[in-house]
Amino acid sequence: MRILVIEDEPRILAFLARGLEAEGFSVDGADDGRAGVERAARGSYDLVILDLLLPKLDGFAVLRQLQNRLPELPVVIVSARSELETKLRGFDLGACDYLSKPFSFDELLARVRAQLRRGRPGENGSVVHAGLLSLDVARREAKLGDVVAALSDREFRLLHHLVLHEGEVVSRERLLADVWGYHFDPRSNVVEVCIRRLRQKLGEDAPIETVRHGGYRLTAA
Ligand code: CA
Repeated sequence: MRILVIEDEPRILAFLARGLEAEGFSVDGADDGRAGVERAARGSYDLVILDLLLPKLDGFAVLRQLQNRLPELPVVIVSARSELETKLRGFDLGACDYLSKPFSFDELLARVRAQLRRGRPGENGSVVHAGLLSLDVARREAKLGDVVAALSDREFRLLHHLVLHEGEVVSRERLLADVWGYHFDPRSNVVEVCIRRLRQKLGEDAPIETVRHGGYRLTAA
């Protein structure tokens, strides 16, 4: 398993590299945002650990570029910034997890492993169908008629969740808990934002129905 750490603080980079290598991961480092994006695009990494305050290109810009170029690559943010707003922005941009500095290495390791486990069932190339919608698990791609949409990790997981519960009303609280897997502020609008993005990507025939006061339902397209 290969991990890229994008972090400009040499002490933290060395600490993470040492710790992760001791756990059997192969680790590369990049000490500014631009170098991080380039490295990520060139190497085949299984996961990226990303700092936010970085020279040349800040962490959010890095995240946006990674989402565009490598939407299936899980990104865990590790940042001294611990405000909810910053965290939500990170999740909105597609980060899988967020850890505030200072953090314990064991917690980081647990979260990294959780993300890597999550990715693995997708690698056997299975495709899930619901009506006219098909979801390619390995490619993180949704197909609806002529529309082929590349999805971010979060969009994919939300849609996958709805597909697995086709026809059922799934509440936004449940989506928050199951897809974000994090103790999210229940007032957060990340679910709405993600649904909106999915509908934009799938076009006007997107089979996602909003059920008032209920949640969302994948209708048989
Ligand atoms: Ca930094």
